[in-house]
Amino acid sequence: MKTVAKWGFYIILIILFRMVNDYVPRDIDSELLPYVESFEKWTGTKLQGRYYSIKFARQYPGVAAVALGMNNDDAVIVRVDPIIWARLSKQQRSWLVYHELAHDVHNSIHDTSFLMNRSIPVFLTDQILEAAKDQYLITLRNGTNKI
Ligand SMILES: [Zn+2]
Repeated sequence: MKTVAKWGFYIILIILFRMVNDYVPRDIDSELLPYVESFEKWTGTKLQGRYYSIKFARQYPGVAAVALGMNNDDAVIVRVDPIIWARLSKQQRSWLVYHELAHDVHNSIHDTSFLMNRSIPVFLTDQILEAAKDQYLITLRNGTNKI
């Protein structure tokens, strides 16, 4: 009985350690979460790193969003301007979150694909967005997202 209790204790410890190990703090505004999950899905990238903070915050005039965790693989930190966000279409919102996560998660740089253009496309349809995703995946596969 004593041995069983001891093993039970060890098993509980192992489970607890595994939970701590698997636990990744995700501080993501609920309105942004579906876009983040969509990015993870179509890029096949589980956001890696130790800290995730994807939230709304006012930016300098004309700045729609920033990827503060770019080139820091321990953190994914994105801030989206709520005033600009409110004026965007669903496709533009997707484009913006994908763009910032591409910077932050993959260290992608500007002008390497349509998704990595500096400004939010004025005209964007589901079809254009799908093509932009496909094109981005090719740059990711070839490593040209960083050159
Ligand atoms: Zn950018």
